[in-house]
Amino acid sequence: MFPRVKPALARAWRDLQTVQFGVTPAHAVVLGPVDTATGAFIDRIDGTRGMELLRAEATRMGLPDGRADALVRRLARAGLLDDASAGGPRAQSLRRRPETLERLGPDLGSLSLVHREPGGDLRGVAARRAIRVQVRGSGRVGAVIAAVLAGAGVGRVEVLDGGRVEAADVAPGGLGPASVGRMRAEAAAGAVRAAAPGPAPRAGAEEGPEPGLALVVVAPRDGLHAWAPDPDTAADWVASGTPHLYAGVLEGTGLVGPLVLPGTTACAGCMERERVERDAAWPRMLVQWRSSHRRLGSASCDLGLSTAVAGLAAAHALAFLDGQLPASTGARWEAALPTLHWESAPVRAHPDCPCGAAPDPAERLRPAGRASGRGAGADPPGAP
Ligand SMILES: [Zn+2]
Repeated sequence: MFPRVKPALARAWRDLQTVQFGVTPAHAVVLGPVDTATGAFIDRIDGTRGMELLRAEATRMGLPDGRADALVRRLARAGLLDDASAGGPRAQSLRRRPETLERLGPDLGSLSLVHREPGGDLRGVAARRAIRVQVRGSGRVGAVIAAVLAGAGVGRVEVLDGGRVEAADVAPGGLGPASVGRMRAEAAAGAVRAAAPGPAPRAGAEEGPEPGLALVVVAPRDGLHAWAPDPDTAADWVASGTPHLYAGVLEGTGLVGPLVLPGTTACAGCMERERVERDAAWPRMLVQWRSSHRRLGSASCDLGLSTAVAGLAAAHALAFLDGQLPASTGARWEAALPTLHWESAPVRAHPDCPCGAAPDPAERLRPAGRASGRGAGADPPGAP
């Protein structure tokens, strides 16, 4: 073990006996009481020394026997400790690609905050590398999402779209001006390759067999298909249990979500049923909207908003792929120009939808038992 205090959290003394790790409340941890000598010793826990050397260093600095081990245990309990040698065989194979790790440095730091155990950052990046995601749509939103996912280390990002790239599809971070006129799927695959921090994994001895789809991101060029997703298109994902996330821009409104976990959270069929119940004219208007969009195409998409939607959708997708449930799970986040207040509304599972996400009436009486995310872990005072 080569212990290292997580470098992602800035350290500051709150007073003579208390150290705060981190600035922002979501991930900050307060450690105390800590005497000055122990505080100075924390600086030595930087991943360059094994436990033997750390114990010798502690003795040299006049700390009592056992203090080095106790401090390392205490830091680990508080989620503040990394281990420069941990993470398993996949992490070891990543360490052989230093240029990839250098590119992903900030992502590793971010993962070290979410995965509290030592080596969680490298394990997280290794897990992303083994993941396969499909992005449907390669416009201002879809191509940027695909590039961001690839750039963040997701190993296999496929983009599905038809036709040829038009000038209006070009967006910073997505398809470049040189791709105008090329096949959309091909140009998007090029953007994904260019954004990736290293060579793509290939199915085989080192990388294992081709994995199944972990997530489909539905980011159609015509935002209407994200605003009012088609239950028929989603039927296969619901049937196969494939999680999918909607994102798009329609008429000056940006939309992220819902993230659909089939059988657990509301799907496109649930949404459509609820809309019909609230507004009897919905089906009649939807038919007209769909046919007029086919004729006219989607004419309004603010580049700032589309970039924000793509970034937020990619971050939600990554949070999910990293094993958490982001705020778009069973909810839609929307922001409309010009004020851009992001607001969320829950998307409820409909009892008549065959997806089965709505609980049985009998089960609705039972208390819900969903686990919540982790909170910032404060160390109890008085620990060694
Ligand atoms: Zn449903």
